[in-house]
Amino acid sequence: MTSYPRPSPITSTVDFGVAEGIQHGYLKLPVSVDESAWGAVMIPITVVAGGEGPTALLTAGIHGDEYEGITALHSLAATLSPEQVNGRVIIIPMANLPAAMAGLRTSPMDKGNLNRSFPGNPDGTVTEQIADYMNRVLIPKCDVALDLHSGGRTLDILPFAAFHALNNDWQERSCLAAATAFSAPYVLKMVELDATRLYDTAVERQGKVFVTTELGGGGTSTPRSVEITKRGVENFLIHNHILEGDITPSEELPIYLDMQSADCYIQSEHSGLLEMMVTLGDRVETGDVLARVYDMTRTGVPPVEYCARNAGILMARRFPAQVGMGDTIAVIANEVASLERK
Ligand code: ZN
Repeated sequence: MTSYPRPSPITSTVDFGVAEGIQHGYLKLPVSVDESAWGAVMIPITVVAGGEGPTALLTAGIHGDEYEGITALHSLAATLSPEQVNGRVIIIPMANLPAAMAGLRTSPMDKGNLNRSFPGNPDGTVTEQIADYMNRVLIPKCDVALDLHSGGRTLDILPFAAFHALNNDWQERSCLAAATAFSAPYVLKMVELDATRLYDTAVERQGKVFVTTELGGGGTSTPRSVEITKRGVENFLIHNHILEGDITPSEELPIYLDMQSADCYIQSEHSGLLEMMVTLGDRVETGDVLARVYDMTRTGVPPVEYCARNAGILMARRFPAQVGMGDTIAVIANEVASLERK
């Protein structure tokens, strides 16, 4: 009788049992497609082991068009040496490789959004198989996990490290401490639109210390956004005593942001031309006009106005100038003095 679920079909060319040294290899996912009958999706992975210490799992490219994290982890994999490391660093710059190679949020192989595919399925689509491997093989190996996102092609987002409200008091405090140590200009206590199938939720359920980030957007990166990301990754490893040294703080004092509910996501009920009225990082009052949407099919029609439902800071905005039904136009977060549990 075969047990279910069966083992992951993904195999690794790196040996996770090696205690010291650096390995660059692949996670190999067998596929049989028009271009390659006996082929494999080859997801690059680097493991840097330096003896005793915790294991950090660093991931980016769960969405393929979010370049700050993808760039920072490629840079780290090319520069980190085992002599610097106490413990182990597992680096996966492009977790959804087919999406990253296509420059898209989701996989062109199955339209899978890796961050909506957890806990995954070994018998599912390519994307579900990647999620299953991460859930059952990679997450259990780590003590702490950092997942790097940004807005991708359709959003621009303030640079922040984030954590979630958790039932476990120790775990939530540890996540807040690690997010603060990342030293992005903003720290956010994040409320998700739907957390059910996120990687975040999969990691948190396994009791790990987890930090997620948003670090820019628009389907590109800037010198500043990549610098914040590289610094944050290094700070995260220092905070967890995997790298030695002192935390490099942000140039400005960090701003703490909270989201009371999913109400702070302003989503469009029209299609048309988007005119943003506030800039990312601006402070707004309740009722302030955030954006106007013009009907592009005719002239002479006044635009529809979208207003802030709460006071706070514009933390995310739609990036393209055209907007459709249901698209998130703006997200307003509350500025708070502290994010400590009460
Ligand atoms: Zn993302």
